[in-house]
Amino acid sequence: MNFTLAILGRPNVGKSTLFNRLVGKRLAIVDDTPGVTRDRRAGEASLSDLRFNLFDTAGLEEGAEGTLEDRMRQQTQAALDDSDICIMLYDARQGVTPMDEHFAAWLRRAEKPVVLVANKCESHKAQDGIYEAYGLGLGEPIALSAEHGQGLAELYRALVDTL
Ligand code: GDP
Ligand code: MG
Repeated sequence: MNFTLAILGRPNVGKSTLFNRLVGKRLAIVDDTPGVTRDRRAGEASLSDLRFNLFDTAGLEEGAEGTLEDRMRQQTQAALDDSDICIMLYDARQGVTPMDEHFAAWLRRAEKPVVLVANKCESHKAQDGIYEAYGLGLGEPIALSAEHGQGLAELYRALVDTL
């Protein structure tokens, strides 16, 4: 099966850490489209027997036209448009923030299959933040630790079920 997956979410939730884990040592291709300051990164990823194209993104932010935030938002939108399925990642230790809610609302409107993933779940401090995410309207969150490689089997199952 060949498909494209985009990792979306506000800055600092661990998108690039998850990207690097799924792409492993394979070379990431940099999309250096002129005018895009924080380019999305693309790579060939694998998770168990799944092979797929993966986009890392900088994070959706509101900003006036032409600003860095605006270009980041456009880049994120382009990654979503070019993907078959996406992961919405949030930081379960921090819990659901207004920016996460903003992302979730945007993704609910996008009508793309979304897998909601709670990151940084190696800590017990993440437990409340996992339950909070049920309110986002994107289904049950997968508890993951991108840094420690925990929850990847559950992520695999969620992707297979969603595809
Ligand atoms: P991005 O801005 O969403 O791409 O986030 P990064 O991948 O750059 O990670 C932001 C910070 O979160 C870094 O300090 C990472 O080391 C840290 N981080 C990423 N994944 C985890 C995780 O599973 N657990 C913990 N505790 N920290 C993580
Ligand atoms: Mg990043």
